[in-house]
Amino acid sequence: MRLKNAFFTITLLFFHYFFVSAQSSTLVNIQTVDPTIRIEIVYATDKNFTGTVIYKSCQCFVLEPVAQALRAVQKELAKQGLGLKIWDGYRPLSAQWKLWEICPDTRYVSDPRKGGRHTRGTAVDVTLITLKTGKELRMPTGFDDFTEKAWSNYPGAPPEALKNRQILHNAMKKHGFTPLETEWWHFDYKNWQECPVLDVQI
Ligand SMILES: [Zn+2]
Repeated sequence: MRLKNAFFTITLLFFHYFFVSAQSSTLVNIQTVDPTIRIEIVYATDKNFTGTVIYKSCQCFVLEPVAQALRAVQKELAKQGLGLKIWDGYRPLSAQWKLWEICPDTRYVSDPRKGGRHTRGTAVDVTLITLKTGKELRMPTGFDDFTEKAWSNYPGAPPEALKNRQILHNAMKKHGFTPLETEWWHFDYKNWQECPVLDVQI
């Protein structure tokens, strides 16, 4: 009888583990969760610091809980007439290798041998826009600026840019995201290190 119970418990744990794992590893198109979030995938064009297309999809994919958290951020920003514009979300591992070959500097590109950040569906590169016009708000630098002006605590930018960076950081932090020290636009969702690296073609 005891053996039967143990077997039952193990079976239950087994199903729980696989069901939850499968669920939390599901990538979703962010616009199916919140169509008001703007998407402009810079690496799907050649208008990025590498000058080449890194991956083809101009849609933005992240894990389901990350999409829900971004929706909450968007809702909160909307009260101020602001919204999010995403430059990058999930990146296939092959794309991470492509970036690493061009820029093997861990301050700006994660080492693909260690898995990376964008390869888990838990990271986003994001800025603020005015909802009405879609126009980007002034920030300390543009995307993929590799100078210290892009650092999250860089104090020397114009006051308006510092204020906007603060609004973005406050809203993202409130909903479970942590900013990266060297890039004001990069955020990781909580417990990202525990999420598996995914190599899904997008
Ligand atoms: Zn990033």
